[in-house]
Amino acid sequence: MNINYLRMILVFLSLPLFGRAETQQSREEVKMTNKRVLISGAGVAGLSLAHLLKQQGFTPTLVERSPILGTGGYKIDIRGAALEVLKRMGTYSLVYEGQTDMRGATFVDSSGKNSSDVSADLCGGRVEGDMEIMRGSLCEILFRQLEDVECLFGDCITEISQTEEGVYVAFEKNAPREFDLVVGADGLHSTVRKLAFGEESQFLQELGLYISVYTIPNILNLDQWEIEYFEPHKFVNVYSSRGDLNAKAGFAFSSKPLRFDPRNTNEQKKLLEEAFKHVGWEVPRLLAEMKEAPDFYFDYAAQIHMPHWSEGRVVLVGDAGYAPSPLSGQGTSLAIVGAYVLAGELAEAQGDHRVAFAEYEKVLRKFAKRNQDLVGMNVSLLGDKDSSWAAWLSHHVQQLLPESWNQSLIQFFKSWGVKRIYEAANDITLKNYSNS
Ligand SMILES: Cc1cc2nc3c(=O)[nH]c(=O)nc-3n(C[C@H](O)[C@H](O)[C@H](O)COP(=O)(O)OP(=O)(O)OC[C@H]3O[C@@H](n4cnc5c(N)ncnc54)[C@H](O)[C@@H]3O)c2cc1C
Repeated sequence: MNINYLRMILVFLSLPLFGRAETQQSREEVKMTNKRVLISGAGVAGLSLAHLLKQQGFTPTLVERSPILGTGGYKIDIRGAALEVLKRMGTYSLVYEGQTDMRGATFVDSSGKNSSDVSADLCGGRVEGDMEIMRGSLCEILFRQLEDVECLFGDCITEISQTEEGVYVAFEKNAPREFDLVVGADGLHSTVRKLAFGEESQFLQELGLYISVYTIPNILNLDQWEIEYFEPHKFVNVYSSRGDLNAKAGFAFSSKPLRFDPRNTNEQKKLLEEAFKHVGWEVPRLLAEMKEAPDFYFDYAAQIHMPHWSEGRVVLVGDAGYAPSPLSGQGTSLAIVGAYVLAGELAEAQGDHRVAFAEYEKVLRKFAKRNQDLVGMNVSLLGDKDSSWAAWLSHHVQQLLPESWNQSLIQFFKSWGVKRIYEAANDITLKNYSNS
């Protein structure tokens, strides 16, 4: 018999004995002030939630699959309501200081000729006051603020079993334990979602696009600057942000469904190479650097759509429950706002998860949907040209128009995108929860 399973049975058997020893009053106190919440995933959603729950008097524990905090990654945006959440968390000024400080971006054609320069904000779909930071820097800031929160690095949940009183959790490495609540903040391919709600395929919608990011030496000598290359069905960007001696290369492309093993990076690298083998500009050099990349990332762009975000004492937050995909540019902000609403509703309901989880969905669902809907334009621009009006338009119009008009076209699409994303990022009224 699996040793974890055995340990779990022992935890089950021992519980009624402890329960009898407790007075009614002490049980109530435990209920109100000391709910033990296990959060799976120490990404933006999990770290934000741990901080907010701690602020509200709960006892969070984090379990993270990676043996150390993930400090690498790409640049991400924080906009709208998420900025206000950072202020209420007491994190805003640290994030402000940690920004990428990108100065701008250049669009190039396949021969490397500059077609247009734009401001960093316009390029990233931000308005004044929005912030851009490397994902790793944000995680480090959130992690440093946690102080005495228990973190189980290098481990994963393997079993979840619920009763009226609690949730019993088995781990890959640690001994099984009992918690009052379990939160899945473990991203697009959430294990908690699989264990408590069912197979990923029921909830995941692929967008027909693939995304890859990795670190390369700064071969284009970029200094807080980004270069973007776009052709129908393919997008490439390279940037180096403040303080980074290296650069990041990012790729997106549309394709008929590709099947690949998520653990086989060599296979994924071949797919990327194949997709970009005829692309000009600096792409051959960027692909050559991929072989040595220490942090190669490749996945399909996808969203998570679920009829409910909770199942008994288990609930999902961030990408695990309602991933909008990187194409929305709002995954991070949605994760931060989601964590705020979940922690706040739990506090407001004094730990009564039934009330809190229902309110969490009521408050957040429209906001999540609106931000998920942002992907439409990007999917159209990169999507299948036979079915996508935007890809058709950009492809044919770019070929016909003089260069100066092309610049205007890029500016037009970018400005339109900024307006849409601004409205979506602010489409929620944040409640003032006690203690926040
Ligand atoms: C290439 C790329 C570019 C992006 N660009 C942007 C952008 O410009 N703007 C933006 O807002 N968003 C962007 N995003 C999206 C953004 O990163 C996510 O939407 C956001 O980080 C959501 O955070 P999360 O904490 O829910 O999930 P994640 O950031 O995915 O964090 C999940 C955490 O859970 C851990 N984990 C996974 N499985 C387990 C397990 N079984 N047990 C324990 N731990 C586990 C992971 O190691 C990770 O630490 C981008 C994403 C990618 C991939």
